[in-house]
Amino acid sequence: MTHRTLITGGIVFSMDPEIGDLPRGDVLIEDSRIVAVGERVDARDAQRIDATNRIVMPGLIDTHRHLWQSSVRQVAADWTIGQYVEGMLGGLGPRFTAEDVRIANLLGSLEALNGGVTTVFDWSHIMNSPEHADAAVQGLRESGIRGIFGYGAPGSPAAPWYGDDVSRVRSTYFSSDDQRLTMALASLGPEFSSVDETVTDLALARSLDLRTSLHLGVGLLGQQRSITAMDDRHLLGPDVIYVHCNTCTDGELRRIADTGGHVSISPRVEMQMGHGYPATGRLIAAGVQPSLSVDVVSGVGGSLFAEMRGTLEAERGEQNRLALERGEWTDSLALTTRDAVRMATLEGARTLGLEESIGSLTPGKQADILLLQVDLANLFLVNDLAAAVTLADSENVDTVFVGGRLVKAAGRLLSHDMRSVQDTARASRDRLLPGLTLTQPRPVSAA
Ligand SMILES: [Zn+2]
Repeated sequence: MTHRTLITGGIVFSMDPEIGDLPRGDVLIEDSRIVAVGERVDARDAQRIDATNRIVMPGLIDTHRHLWQSSVRQVAADWTIGQYVEGMLGGLGPRFTAEDVRIANLLGSLEALNGGVTTVFDWSHIMNSPEHADAAVQGLRESGIRGIFGYGAPGSPAAPWYGDDVSRVRSTYFSSDDQRLTMALASLGPEFSSVDETVTDLALARSLDLRTSLHLGVGLLGQQRSITAMDDRHLLGPDVIYVHCNTCTDGELRRIADTGGHVSISPRVEMQMGHGYPATGRLIAAGVQPSLSVDVVSGVGGSLFAEMRGTLEAERGEQNRLALERGEWTDSLALTTRDAVRMATLEGARTLGLEESIGSLTPGKQADILLLQVDLANLFLVNDLAAAVTLADSENVDTVFVGGRLVKAAGRLLSHDMRSVQDTARASRDRLLPGLTLTQPRPVSAA
């Protein structure tokens, strides 16, 4: 039997160019899909959800997040990239058991859903053993989030079982690409392994029909001209997601555009850790529309609303700084709040190759839908819809659907015993953190 839900009387922010914004509108869900969006949708047999004082919009899409670090949140909040590589990847990473990864993925996915992120690319470079991959997938599954599991090696060179295990996980859990969780390869890429290993990784991913995500253009490492090196080996393509790209040249960014590649940027982590200035404006000028990602949840937390704001602030700061250098005033801002919302929805879907199924409130797409409560202290009154969304946060995320399934209602996550999840996460954290020291100096914070 089909199940129909009518979300009625909300402010509809569809992100669909044909539908646009509706000051008062209805969205009809049938099972997992959106079947109608309009000012009035007649569906007398449907269960009704009153969306008065709610913005109704597509779920947010995070195209690169290291969920496995969710139980050690805040640890990296004052770290540079050198300290992160030493403390997180070198220090904490090897301590992670498979169960530590499962509970972190569950905790982090619930954080994402609570904050309106209905799809996450889990950049999971924590495969200390094949069991870690099983556990990571398990945590994602338990949460109810839509996701891409990015299988990643923790370091270079990868373990001898790595390639076989990528194939095993592909056939065991992801035999269909038409399911809520799908798979990609999280390659360390030329800057964190080598060009030769990147060649091997891309061949492996392409043999399994998987997208590949890799970090590059990262600080001084980006000066190796990674895109150029990959281009020389004919590796660029529309199945590659390039993460960061801060110190790529404009010419390299144009090569990404020319070859149909995708870019995920994480401006807050990039500005904190020393990746270089966020490449937002340079990417757009080169013909690439970037998507957004939180990246290091253990540093900047899990809010994609904050990432929208960080992206706007960084790009606007740069535009204004350059104008001042020329002795001019900026007469209009190049990057708008609507652009930021698009990056966090439609561009995220395009980056992940899911634009046919998510990213906007379009009939036929999956019902990944948020209701943002606007009659709270921070958002009452709404005078500009896109701006209101960028200024929202988890407190405004009242209702969340993933594929038509209600995962948050009346401001509370459903289907999970949060106390039990938190108890397990605390026990994991208590095993992981003691005795962590860094050789590089770092600020000492109060306990
Ligand atoms: Zn990352």
